[in-house]
Amino acid sequence: MKKFVQRAISKIDQLDRNQIVDILGGLAGDVQMLENVLESIRDGVILTDEKLTVQYANTNCRKLVPMTILHTYEGLALSKVLLDEHILHYIDLCVHNQQLDEDNEFSFQKGESVQTVAVTVFAYKNKAREGGSSYVVMISDVTEHNANEARLRRSENLASMTTMAAGVAHEIKNPLAAMGIHVQLLRKAFARKESLTIEDAERYLSVLEEEISRLNSIVVDFLFAVRPMDTRLRLGPLVRTLEEVCSFVEPELNEHRVQLRRDFSTALPRLEYDEHLVKQALLNLIKNAMNAMEGGGKLTIQARLDGNQVQVKVSDTGIGMDEQVQQKIFEPYFTTKATGTGLGLTVVYKIMKEHRGDITVQSKAGEGTTFTLYFPVPKSERLALDRQSMTEAQYEA
Ligand code: ADP
Ligand code: MG
Repeated sequence: MKKFVQRAISKIDQLDRNQIVDILGGLAGDVQMLENVLESIRDGVILTDEKLTVQYANTNCRKLVPMTILHTYEGLALSKVLLDEHILHYIDLCVHNQQLDEDNEFSFQKGESVQTVAVTVFAYKNKAREGGSSYVVMISDVTEHNANEARLRRSENLASMTTMAAGVAHEIKNPLAAMGIHVQLLRKAFARKESLTIEDAERYLSVLEEEISRLNSIVVDFLFAVRPMDTRLRLGPLVRTLEEVCSFVEPELNEHRVQLRRDFSTALPRLEYDEHLVKQALLNLIKNAMNAMEGGGKLTIQARLDGNQVQVKVSDTGIGMDEQVQQKIFEPYFTTKATGTGLGLTVVYKIMKEHRGDITVQSKAGEGTTFTLYFPVPKSERLALDRQSMTEAQYEA
């Protein structure tokens, strides 16, 4: 507060009416100026007390989140004017659990497009209200910011596509060379008609056939790896998908003397994922694990909640990899196998990026390998988890 106002308060008995009116007029002007500032910023600002009674809200709030349209919100319960229960619940959590540094995003359909806002709540010291605390709720439009991030991800994809294209060019050289040689051999044999036996002809033709199918698989795999994925994220229980994949691969694993162990935590939140793509990713990992355990072994699939992510680990007791190999495995066309495409893990990597997740590898030559997939827990499910742990805490209390 301005010093001279404090001084005036201490001497209020000695001031005449006109002086008091002057001071109040000056203060009203200051308040108006602050309000003008709050009105001119692009963010929404709501001030509340700990009971979530609105002290002030600027008009921009209405453009960012669903709110009843009123001339003033002062003195009204936030729950009566803010019409989105997720945001309300989030603000409530922040105010009562003191989780004041967490930032949360919410999306709304706005005409044809989706608007995403970030809601941040922080406490501030309000000297005017002794005892109670006050809170500022900041609402910012992050749609543009998020779109920029998506654009960046896409251009990263583009960069990896250039590497891939170079890889394809390199890959198709060998089969093309082999085909060229055998076509020439055939041509020469035709020139010496009498010396071309059926066996020779068949040998040349089967080489040509083999190389054609190799070319075909290079091209098909390449297209699969670079094609923009048609990702359809849906909210669902990941464990169900894990179970399905396990039941699908178990007979084949057993045939190869690989024992499958499932280790799924029962209390996992639902995730936003594309079932088809996640199955594809798991199958690629399981196939690699099986290849690494020629003489049999153990394959463990584990799912756990860790903070705001769900981790899925695929561990094998196979041949493992040294550091050098580990650094290259996600690169397109990197393979140590005679008949490998080197695209399996590239595809898994891409699938995880589509899920805003990640993948890491831990391995030791001769001991085994663990791949970890990280899936972000959606915001809505985090709230549900918080609510769960809150009621548990209430039980305990
Ligand atoms: P591919 O299986 O066609 O070789 P991937 O992209 O699936 O291509 O794997 C690349 C390489 O990573 C493999 O050739 C292998 O050297 C290594 N690798 C992947 N998974 C494992 C594993 N579970 N154990 C040991 N090595 C692995
Ligand atoms: Mg593979």
